[in-house]
Amino acid sequence: MSTYSYDFVKKLSFTRPAGSPEAKKAAEMIMEEIASLGGTSVYEPFKIPACRFHKYGAKILAPYEKEIEVLPYGCSGSLPEGGVNLKFLYAEEGKPEDFLGIGDLSDTVVMLNALSLDAYKILCEKHAAAFMTISNKHYHNKDNHDLVYRPLRDRMLAFGKIPGFMVWAHDATEMVRDHVESIHLELISEDYEADCGNVVATIPGTEITNESMVVTAHYDSLTVGTGAWDNATGSATIMYIYRHFLKNAPRRTMHFIWCDAEELGLLGSKAYVAQHEDLIKDEIRFCFNFDMCGTILGPSSVKVTGRESLMSYAEQFCKEMGHSARITRSVHSSDSAPFADKGVPSISLSRRSTTADIHNRYDVIFPLSAEQLKKDGDIAVAFISRVIGSRVLPEPMGMPDDILKELDRYFGRK
Ligand SMILES: [Zn+2]
Repeated sequence: MSTYSYDFVKKLSFTRPAGSPEAKKAAEMIMEEIASLGGTSVYEPFKIPACRFHKYGAKILAPYEKEIEVLPYGCSGSLPEGGVNLKFLYAEEGKPEDFLGIGDLSDTVVMLNALSLDAYKILCEKHAAAFMTISNKHYHNKDNHDLVYRPLRDRMLAFGKIPGFMVWAHDATEMVRDHVESIHLELISEDYEADCGNVVATIPGTEITNESMVVTAHYDSLTVGTGAWDNATGSATIMYIYRHFLKNAPRRTMHFIWCDAEELGLLGSKAYVAQHEDLIKDEIRFCFNFDMCGTILGPSSVKVTGRESLMSYAEQFCKEMGHSARITRSVHSSDSAPFADKGVPSISLSRRSTTADIHNRYDVIFPLSAEQLKKDGDIAVAFISRVIGSRVLPEPMGMPDDILKELDRYFGRK
């Protein structure tokens, strides 16, 4: 049995956050692999907003004093030198209902269950001095889990900049239970631009040259964990697919894109779409995306972003192949989304085991196998062959109304 994908997953499984030397190394490894297969690739650079922290901390002041561990949100600005003493408010979901009778929040740090665009917008309108979000479960601590660096996204920063902090769930639980009144917060950070890049390899079509497909997978990880499942597996799977089509020339052109900076808000695929407007307009007609494959335990997932007819096409394919999968139709929060947003019918293939974990130190090799990675690669090759080789593509460009609405929400345009 071929262990090709699994061997490549093992090689790529190291922490490689976008903008770091390790991400650059991962890109080089992908380019070397393409070259060793006899193909060629280009590194398409782009910049991302990045941030380094010079100083940060949090200390509860009243009704008791206690230092708590926090991790700031990247690109969320700084607080005045020496820090600030702020009132504390737990606003749950950050809905208007959570702020009844409260106008100005310029002397307050607001703690939310999680960060949503709607809640952030309200915090900006009320001039909140800072915000906090709750991470992990109450039984987690730094010995067994992680606070994971995340930058504030553009769509949030469009409303304003509020210094943000992640707090551990056990601290958050105590703070609300014990009616914390005030906190001292410090944050001095510095924004800069970091260098990133997508690796792109193209296999020209033999017959239909005015229509092409993109095959996408992100190769960056977050700042913790080895990113084995998310997404060394997708990167290896599209290499497996690339290797197949290099030997079996497709009827239409295929662009393979190993995207950088997906974890920071699909920045690599967005950069590709922005850098290749003409290709999107004139040529790219289908997208297959791979984000998290190869877990020993299932289920498999087929996520369709397109019309009901594309969903039926996927269902029919799974029946034909005997491929047991959860087939759903929606926007996938991965690199297919910027293509779907341009009307490109998109399908994401993945494994969705609930027993494995991502975005923390537990994203490791153990839940993955060579056998399942090969199986996922083979089903992908079969599915893509059917689409890329069809006389007429199974779906025309364009998205139905429900998906258009979902895309608007997803990209913060509603
Ligand atoms: Zn991912």
